[in-house]
Amino acid sequence: MTKDELSKFVCADPTRNAICEAWSRGKFSYATDGYILVRIPRLSEIPDKETGPDVDNIFPKDDPWEWFILSEIPIEDQPICSSCDGVAVDLKCPNCNGRGKYKSEKKEYDCEECDGKGKIDCSKCLGTGKLLPVGIGNSHFNYALLKKLQIISSCKIGPMGASDPAWLKFDDGDGLLMPIRV
Ligand SMILES: [Zn+2]
Ligand SMILES: [Zn+2]
Repeated sequence: MTKDELSKFVCADPTRNAICEAWSRGKFSYATDGYILVRIPRLSEIPDKETGPDVDNIFPKDDPWEWFILSEIPIEDQPICSSCDGVAVDLKCPNCNGRGKYKSEKKEYDCEECDGKGKIDCSKCLGTGKLLPVGIGNSHFNYALLKKLQIISSCKIGPMGASDPAWLKFDDGDGLLMPIRV
């Protein structure tokens, strides 16, 4: 995995300074968005970062009951989101009724809900159009996160139960995926 590939898994929120970029420690380089964690053999171009969290101790001590190959899990068969009927994106913003603005005391303001665009993504399916919980083994996972993991072609997933992060393994590293409670 290259630095660019690893950096796809950092947190997009720049205010979360500890995890908004990849970091190295000891033998490994890491990236996480708080839901997916990826750990690969240390890349020399990724520096140590003191504020990067210590994560080695949260990896499972025992193997999971079963490993599932991510590319073989039929996640595209996931039922469509009942909230938006699968439309997912560019829904009319209910806060401003699609206008993008609202008037208050003769002044016009941008709608904060949609940033003035008048359209929003479905909040129930996070703009994916699919029901989010996907059952794998003894756990459920977020459809959008499983889609994101598909960029790691060799990824397999070992569920560790309803509340513990699942173990991920791939050709040149491993990682964790938070389950969702249903
Ligand atoms: Zn709006
Ligand atoms: Zn939806």
